[in-house]
Amino acid sequence: MPTYVSFYLDDVAPYVASGGELLPVDASALVDVLEYIRQEGIRGAISVIPGMYTLLLRPKNSHERRFAEVVARLGEYPVDPHMEIMTHQNLFDFSRMEQTDGPSEAEWLDDPEVGVEEYKRYFLDTIIAGRELGVRYTGLSTPGTHPDMNPKVWEALLRLAEEGEFPNSAVPVFATIEEGDVPMEPRVRARRDKFVVLDMPSGVWDYLASWRNSPDWVNVDHYVDGEGGGHLASLIKAGSFMAIFHMHWQGLNPQTGLGWKPFQEMIGRLKSMFGGMIEWKRPSEIALEFAKGGGPSW
Ligand SMILES: [Zn+2]
Repeated sequence: MPTYVSFYLDDVAPYVASGGELLPVDASALVDVLEYIRQEGIRGAISVIPGMYTLLLRPKNSHERRFAEVVARLGEYPVDPHMEIMTHQNLFDFSRMEQTDGPSEAEWLDDPEVGVEEYKRYFLDTIIAGRELGVRYTGLSTPGTHPDMNPKVWEALLRLAEEGEFPNSAVPVFATIEEGDVPMEPRVRARRDKFVVLDMPSGVWDYLASWRNSPDWVNVDHYVDGEGGGHLASLIKAGSFMAIFHMHWQGLNPQTGLGWKPFQEMIGRLKSMFGGMIEWKRPSEIALEFAKGGGPSW
C-alpha cells in the first residue's frame, strides 16, 4: 500500500508579521501556490482564518477584498480548507464581531475549565463565518501545538460532525508535531457510530523557513536528502499509513517567503525518489480512508 502524503499550510492571511510590522501579501501569491499544487498533483489543507489581523468578512480595502475573493475559490483546487479557529490571536466576540483582549485561542484550547458546549458554540460560529467566506471547513488545525489539549475539544468536534456541520463523518485535526515517530498513522480521539475525530500529527518540523521566515529554518535535506534519508523519507520507507508535513504562510508565500523555492525542490525530490511509493491525498481523504478500515490499528 502506498503512503498517503499530505500537508497543512498554516496561518494563511492577507498579512504576515515581520519585524514588528504587518506586511501585506497579495492574493496573487495565494493563487500561485494553488496553481502550483494543482499542476504538481499534490494535495493538502490550507488554513482559512476569518479574523487574523483583519476581518476578511468585512474587507477594509481592495487588497483584503482580493484576498477574500481568492479564498472563496479554494473549492476549485485540490485542497481542504481547515479552520485554524477565528483569529489565531485573542478570542473573538461573535456578538460584536470583534476580537477581545484575551485570552488567546491557543490558551483557551488547553484550559481545563472550558466545557464542551462552549467549544462547540465557538467552533460553530467560526464554521458559519467560514461559510460566509465561501468555504466549508473539513477539519481543524490548532493555533500553536497542543499535546495537552482539553479533551472536550475532541467531543465538541464529534458533536458538530454528528450534526452535519462538517462535510464528512471523519474529521482530521492537526494539533501536534511528532517528528521521529515512525511509522505514523491517525489516532482516534473521539468516536461514535460512523463519526470519528482523528488526531493527524505532522511528522516533520517546518524547515521551509517556518513562521519565522528565517534562513536558519530552511533545510530541504531535513525532509528528503540526496541519499534518500530525512524525516519524510523515513516515514515513507517505513511503510507509514501517512506522512504529513506542515508549513507556514509567513515562510512559504511566494511574495515574501524564503521557503517557496526550497518547497518546490523538496517536492521534486519526493517525486523523483519516492514517486512510486506515495499517493497524495487531502487530510480529509486520509481520515476517511482510515475510518473505512484502511489503517493498521483501526
Ligand atoms: Zn498557526
